[in-house]
Amino acid sequence: MARGKVYLVGAGPGDPELITLKARRLLSEAEVVLYDRLLNPQMLEGLKAELIDVGKCAGHHKLTQEEINQLLIEKAEEGKMVVRLKGGDPYVFGRGGEEALALLDRGIAVEVVPGVTSAIAAPGLAGIPVTHRGVTSALTIVTGHEEPGKDSPLDWGAIAHLGGTLVVLMGLSRLEKNVGALLEGGRSAKTPAAIVEKGGWEGQRLVRGTLGDIVARAREAEVESPAILVVGEVVNLSQRLARKRIAILRPDAQLQESGKLAEDYGFLPVPAPAISLRELPLPSGLAARLDNAKFVVFTSANGVRMALQKEEVRNHLKDKTIVAIGPKTGQALKKSGRPYLMPEEYSSEGLKKLLQSRTGKVVFLRSALGARYLADDLRAAGLEVEDIALYDVVPSDDPRLDDLIRKAGGIDVFAFTSSSTARYLIARAKELGSEEALRKALSFAVVAAIGKPTAQELERLGVRVDVMPETFTFQAMLEELRRLQ
Ligand code: SAH
Repeated sequence: MARGKVYLVGAGPGDPELITLKARRLLSEAEVVLYDRLLNPQMLEGLKAELIDVGKCAGHHKLTQEEINQLLIEKAEEGKMVVRLKGGDPYVFGRGGEEALALLDRGIAVEVVPGVTSAIAAPGLAGIPVTHRGVTSALTIVTGHEEPGKDSPLDWGAIAHLGGTLVVLMGLSRLEKNVGALLEGGRSAKTPAAIVEKGGWEGQRLVRGTLGDIVARAREAEVESPAILVVGEVVNLSQRLARKRIAILRPDAQLQESGKLAEDYGFLPVPAPAISLRELPLPSGLAARLDNAKFVVFTSANGVRMALQKEEVRNHLKDKTIVAIGPKTGQALKKSGRPYLMPEEYSSEGLKKLLQSRTGKVVFLRSALGARYLADDLRAAGLEVEDIALYDVVPSDDPRLDDLIRKAGGIDVFAFTSSSTARYLIARAKELGSEEALRKALSFAVVAAIGKPTAQELERLGVRVDVMPETFTFQAMLEELRRLQ
């Protein structure tokens, strides 16, 4: 390029997929990229450009606006193709206009590439359409952080009178003052209000209330920047439109698959393993115990995985009839190419029906914690049964669980997939001194239990159960939960 050019490019609210195609192309062609603090680093991966972080950390500016303008001029005058990447849209409270003017003053070509602005996208992602037929036909976007002497002062009284939807950017540090001004200006304290924190980011949260209590609620929820205040009747729509956050407490091995499934059903998964699986040393005499068995029963996909990893176990399964308690366990067996039987009904009753008319010893290969009643039931039906523990279920120690407990108030659905997940969640909350807060969150949220033993354990722990699927699978649980919405 004979002469440099600067593209002022919007990066969207945070999700790297919410960037325009044009922005992506320009990023891949750029020689220099100047970017801000509010950007997702994933957007910058694999670029050939020189990357310059001009981000402004709260309080101490890394580069002043003047220095940023100078740097843009400098790079463009070197003949470079420069992308100035800015959060959201460059011309919505992004000082993009100032940068464009400074460049034009030096005779440098500049082009704007609009982006998805957080002013509209963050509420939208949280289930708040900024306009809605029959509810509001006006949208006002203001800054909550005017610089005295620089910005033209806002007439909050007039804004209060406008009605419709009000979106306040950069409003966290002066939340109390701004809300106070709206109330003083005559906007009712009953007006629905919400704060959307980190819209489009992994930790996105919605704090809902009214103009009268939103300040207290924001404080209680410890809302952090970036966040947007939305005021108006449209906030109520989020009760239906917000994706429900579902806490998934399963062990790590299943989290990804379960999270994906939850997304397919329209939920926002919050992975928080409450348990982890610890392999146990194989008992002595395992070979003999397996050898005289006719049936080998697996009660979980984890059990299958652990068993098949071990050659000693694998070798002794060859001439056995393998039984999977349910479809997920079956799938794990299918992956290994092994034929298996499965009860029609996924429960101890179903298992009994399948096995009681047959003869031969039954061996369970399963978790040390697993429900004893399965084996007991079969024994009571006259079968010879042996239980072999392959792994133990232990508290997870996962920081994501602690995080969940701290922010339990933002969870809409708790998905309990075993009695141990219930026990360890509560035990961990107790250790963190947050049991009361967790119990409160559980009482407001929808509590789902995968099966009867899990539901019974929850009730024993004093937690009300709202949903239990007929078939004991995670998918059936999601199906049931979706019906509730
Ligand atoms: N040009 C940007 C706004 C820059 S001002 C845009 O169009 O989105 C910075 C303010 O934007 C923050 O203080 C916050 O109020 C808001 N903001 C930016 N990204 C956000 C996000 N992901 N979630 C919520 N608010 C966000």
